[in-house]
Amino acid sequence: MNLFDLSGRVALVTGGNGGIGLGMARGLAGAGAAIVIAGRNAAKSAAAVKALEAAGARAAALEADLADAQACAALVAAAARRFGRLDILVNNAGINIRKQPQDYTIAEWNEVLATNLTSAFACAHAAYPEMKKAGGGKIINIGSMMSIFGASFVAAYAASKGGIVQMTKALATAWAKDNIQVNAVLPGWIDTELTRRAREQVEGLHDRVLARTPAGRWGVPEDHAGIAIFLASKASDFVTGAAIPVDGGYSVQG
Ligand code: NDP
Repeated sequence: MNLFDLSGRVALVTGGNGGIGLGMARGLAGAGAAIVIAGRNAAKSAAAVKALEAAGARAAALEADLADAQACAALVAAAARRFGRLDILVNNAGINIRKQPQDYTIAEWNEVLATNLTSAFACAHAAYPEMKKAGGGKIINIGSMMSIFGASFVAAYAASKGGIVQMTKALATAWAKDNIQVNAVLPGWIDTELTRRAREQVEGLHDRVLARTPAGRWGVPEDHAGIAIFLASKASDFVTGAAIPVDGGYSVQG
């Protein structure tokens, strides 16, 4: 038996049209899963579907604004219909608004929390009956180094990513009896659109990350393919409620 085989499985990856989400989607597709990606930017999603199909996968894109919890429920239902089932949910969509806490508006706070945290709960909530019906499932929530650490410009983002870890533990304990494993991945500093903007906005960030990361480099989206396959496959059937850093050692640097 190949513990990592995902043939016949269907995965929904939110924010799967670029960055870490697409890196994970490529990994899951390579292990045999059909992929539904969700995002707001239809052109980016179409290009990602093309790339996944070119690599031999069954793939589809759905347009959704995940800051809207009702849209999350509709998205999960549509994703389950697209290939007839839903086995794997990757809650990856996320944003950051980088400002000092005193400069935040409540609307900005709410936007970050809605996109990063409430959407993950709403998608998991909607996926639960599908997974229960199928006899089990895998939910992978994307946290951050800001699930562990703080910084002056991440009040809302850190709150959302700390919340992801605690929500992961709660869902894991609730749904273990249904054979649904729920885990979190905590990426280190990964070169994506999100962090390209961070490097423009936060002086010295690029070099500070390099200096602190034992692996001596920024991560790339492909670094997340392996953890996605592990957490989506039979290989992790007794792993639940964990928060696993994929960070080149950043979080253990003394
Ligand atoms: P990107 O900006 O490249 O990707 C973010 C994705 O989220 C895009 O696909 C975007 O799709 C989607 N998205 C954002 N807002 C919404 C929304 N309202 N509705 C639907 N989709 C949305 O960033 P990353 O790949 O870097 O980030 C992915 C995840 O990883 C995030 O949760 C981020 O917090 C986390 N992370 C990233 C780190 C890094 O170093 N890069 C480190 C730690 C965590 P679209 O453009 O179509 O809306």
